[in-house]
Amino acid sequence: MICNLCPRKCNAHRSITSGSGFCKCTDQMKIARIAPHYWEEPLISGKNGCGAVFFSGCTLNCVYCQNYEISNENKGKYISPKELAKMLLELESTGVHTIEFVTATMYVDKLIETLKIYKPSVPLVYNSSGFEDVETLRKLEGYIDIYLPDFKYSDDKLAKRLSNCDNYSDIAKNAIKEMLRQQPKVEIGDNEIMQKGVLIRHLVLPSHTKNSIGVLNIIKDEFLDKALVSLMGQYVPYGKANEHSDINRKITKREYNKVLDELLRLELDGFAQELKAADKSYIPSWDF
Ligand code: SF4
Repeated sequence: MICNLCPRKCNAHRSITSGSGFCKCTDQMKIARIAPHYWEEPLISGKNGCGAVFFSGCTLNCVYCQNYEISNENKGKYISPKELAKMLLELESTGVHTIEFVTATMYVDKLIETLKIYKPSVPLVYNSSGFEDVETLRKLEGYIDIYLPDFKYSDDKLAKRLSNCDNYSDIAKNAIKEMLRQQPKVEIGDNEIMQKGVLIRHLVLPSHTKNSIGVLNIIKDEFLDKALVSLMGQYVPYGKANEHSDINRKITKREYNKVLDELLRLELDGFAQELKAADKSYIPSWDF
């Protein structure tokens, strides 16, 4: 295939054995882990967990990625849509409340092929970096119930340095607008699990509270009352974070509270994580 699935628009050749694009993904779907996952927001994980499918590779490759081995080193196993469909059925039968596709952008066509074979009846969650192409998102209309995008940066210079991309804030804004077009209303079921809608995540980075406050203000200006917000304080230095002195530590309580105060001041609806989640033990093992 010739790939232009994400905003990088590599026009890259992806064959069965190699990928010449930024993400280096081949034409085959690759997955690092499929298992119940209990550490998402309560509306997504609930008591029984969400069935998380972690795809290998990423279109952003943030230097500090908390899933570095799978996003930057493409660790994982190849799997066909037919095999994944069978595994989704098994995952659903464990009683998970939702099924979540984590960083599936590079394999959107294969994911749709999978869901044409078997579409689970629990809500389907598309967990994304926010760095998405609107045309690619349109392909997912009718398949995805809940969009879970990150909004990582209001500071595009920071995005360039840490995630090697241009115009992140505008790209994420337009992507979330498309997600909201498809799922305009947050719906929560009797089981207190989200059934439809958009939940925007923001991970606070050390030394960059100004970036975080900028993100929250964009969310207020563009998406107030349309989407929920989840503020995350779980950052631990990982991957190549040690090459950047500003992000080579956890965030402080003072930094987190500063961003949290802004969230409250802006009256954004959603969640704020406890700082004790900032521990490497919350990172799953990538053992398929
Ligand atoms: S999905 Fe990968 S190959 Fe395709 S445009 Fe994005 S980075 Fe390039």
